Amino acid sequence: MQVSDLDFDRKYLWHPYTSLRDPLPVYPVASANGCRLRLEDGRELVDGMSSWWCAIHGYNVPELNDAIHEQARKMSHVMFGGITHEPAIELGKRLVKILPKGLDRIFLADSGSVSVEVAMKMAVQYQHAMGFPERQKFLTLRGGYHGDTTAPMSVCDPVTGMHQVFQGFLPEHAFFRRPPGGYATPADPTYEAELADFFEQYACQSAAFIVEPVVQGAGGMHFYNPAYLRVFRRLCDRHGLLLIFDEIATGFGRTGELFVGGGGAGKNLSSKQEANPIPDIMTIGKALTGGYMTLAATVCTHQVADTIGRGEAGVMMHGPTFMGNPLACAVACASIDLLLASPWVGRVESIRSRLAAYLRPAAQSTRVKAVRVLGAIGVVEMHEPVDVAAAQACFVEAGAWIRPFGKLIYLMPPYTITEDDLELLCRAVVKYV
Ligand code: PMP
Repeated sequence: MQVSDLDFDRKYLWHPYTSLRDPLPVYPVASANGCRLRLEDGRELVDGMSSWWCAIHGYNVPELNDAIHEQARKMSHVMFGGITHEPAIELGKRLVKILPKGLDRIFLADSGSVSVEVAMKMAVQYQHAMGFPERQKFLTLRGGYHGDTTAPMSVCDPVTGMHQVFQGFLPEHAFFRRPPGGYATPADPTYEAELADFFEQYACQSAAFIVEPVVQGAGGMHFYNPAYLRVFRRLCDRHGLLLIFDEIATGFGRTGELFVGGGGAGKNLSSKQEANPIPDIMTIGKALTGGYMTLAATVCTHQVADTIGRGEAGVMMHGPTFMGNPLACAVACASIDLLLASPWVGRVESIRSRLAAYLRPAAQSTRVKAVRVLGAIGVVEMHEPVDVAAAQACFVEAGAWIRPFGKLIYLMPPYTITEDDLELLCRAVVKYV
């Protein structure tokens, strides 16, 4: 790549969350293979990000490449209105097999944010059909993140989600403090009592309670005890609200469970605890295609789907152009097959224990507030916001691809990462802090 290309990029191309007046530096990547990104200048970086939680198998994966090529030879895209096809049906069958029991009605969406839009519309249509057209508000938690289109944005944390800029434009929903931190920290009974009061106040106007179960990702990499999920389930049932789990980030094994909803005891606790509750609606995306293509899904119970079908509209009011894209569905099938055929539970557990061991020295830095690990997610929280450009230059120098945000430096590598590469990532973090 010539310098003028980088100048063009700098001047004309918006990157995520950047300014075109003074953009942060970008690193030109020429190719990616296994768990490494190769820069244009030939340097190789170990990937600590899985391209924002997606590339769980790494890059240039033969099985996924083949799936795309084979499907492209048959048909890359065809409308889903009035037409169906094998890749969508095959994907549907796989999802029904692996999703929490009862979540077997599937809406294929084109990105995570869109799947959250669809989930919210489903909830509103459901309440409308139940005879509660006034139930249009959503209850949610502070510190959440659900996407960047407007409906998901309206349930993102009001501060980190920049609601102020969009005041009057975004619908206003009701936020409650997030559960106290710590996956294994015993649940605080006063939290349930206070949340119950919050439900009393807002439930009669509300369609659903939407949360990221156990791991709040882009809103702060906050982990909480799954026992709170049962509190959410109880309160939703008591007040006739639907419970929505946004598993776009947590789905497909990242926390050590295939999905948090309906998951078991969690791998980090010594004693078995009750199974996690199953939501009425769940969104999945990101790792669904192993990071190859944009695809997400909103899944719900048959009760939700049937009720919507009996409603005034009679149909689910959404139908994007690229719904059920065959290339994306085909690669999603291949990714799920590859995941299930792999020893992913052992891999995630091994990443967890190594992240815990290798990141531990970071806790000694006075600049570090906390170090936490859950499944294949390692987080170092700093006291002050990280200088992203300086930190990235330092990581790249160390041969690591790590993208901090806010006060957080975190790792969520592909499940296929080697021990040596994982150690390199952690050493880069420890050295920086
Ligand atoms: N929900 C959660 C929990 C997410 O982490 C994200 C993406 N970071 C989204 C929704 C939005 O997904 P997308 O970026 O594919 O629109």
